[in-house]
Amino acid sequence: MTDVTVIGLGPMGSTMASTFLEAGHDVTVWNRTASKAEPLVAKGARLAASPGDSGELLVISQLDYQAMYDSLGDLRLDGKVLVNLSSGTPEELRAAARWVTGRGGVLVTAGIMVPPPGIGRPGSYVFYSGPQEAVDRHAETLGALGDVHYMGADEGLAMMFYQAQLLVFWSSLTSYMHAVALLGTAGVEPARFLPYAREMFTLLGGEGPMGFAKILAEEITAGVYPGELNSLLMQAVGLDHAVHALRDAGLETTVPGALKELFERAVAEGRGHEGLGTVFESIRKP
Ligand code: NDP
Repeated sequence: MTDVTVIGLGPMGSTMASTFLEAGHDVTVWNRTASKAEPLVAKGARLAASPGDSGELLVISQLDYQAMYDSLGDLRLDGKVLVNLSSGTPEELRAAARWVTGRGGVLVTAGIMVPPPGIGRPGSYVFYSGPQEAVDRHAETLGALGDVHYMGADEGLAMMFYQAQLLVFWSSLTSYMHAVALLGTAGVEPARFLPYAREMFTLLGGEGPMGFAKILAEEITAGVYPGELNSLLMQAVGLDHAVHALRDAGLETTVPGALKELFERAVAEGRGHEGLGTVFESIRKP
């Protein structure tokens, strides 16, 4: 089994190291705070004296990319493949790839789409970008963490896909919280709204007339946003009412208020007769 070194032993890195051990790999670990390695050493991992005390494959899971620079310092990386699953901006990832190349190594950037308990479980997947040859060569080992989704050579891509997923996750769940809060002011328990929220989440991702994820993908590709049956103007007025409802109920309105501004800008730009999808044009050209 391949050797793998895990750098960074927060909840993610520690679970990744355990998962590699369970898959039968020889695992070396390193963390700034060495004591966090103890449970892994007890399970059979080897504690590295320094991050350079490693084989070819280094899997990094830290707070951010600065942590990688701080950890590796001026270490040479000749012959090493670094797979970094930490959070960053796409530009930071591209700069990090140049930094690693300058030290003789190869950087594969990545974004994992599950929390620690999901690592290596069915449904777990990881976006990877950077040199495909390096991803292919280590795909079997990396596959222990989740399905390998290679997105392309641009090192920023893995993080862009990761952030794209999180934007949908954070914004839809925050809207859900606003919805639950609004109903809560009338004494409605969250459980009573749950079946309706579930129906909406399911419909939006599905086929059919409410399958808006797919409908918007098609409209955006074509650059045409039909609004004959449900114009943006009508929806901007409705959203204004919803923001007022939240405010009247004494609730926080930052996110719905920002949405309202976005809708109203598209209307002010003369696209109120088009459909909801025309908001995309305002997002694309701020
Ligand atoms: P953290 O994001 O809190 O990362 C903790 C690790 O980063 C520790 O090993 C810590 O070392 C190290 N670290 C932080 N700053 C430095 C530094 N300057 N130098 C060296 N090491 C440093 O915890 P997680 O494990 O939860 O997350 C790791 C990454 O995984 C993050 O980028 C996160 O966005 C991503 N992620 C997390 C998910 C989750 O559900 N937890 C889900 C998907 C992605 P020390 O122990 O010494 O403090």
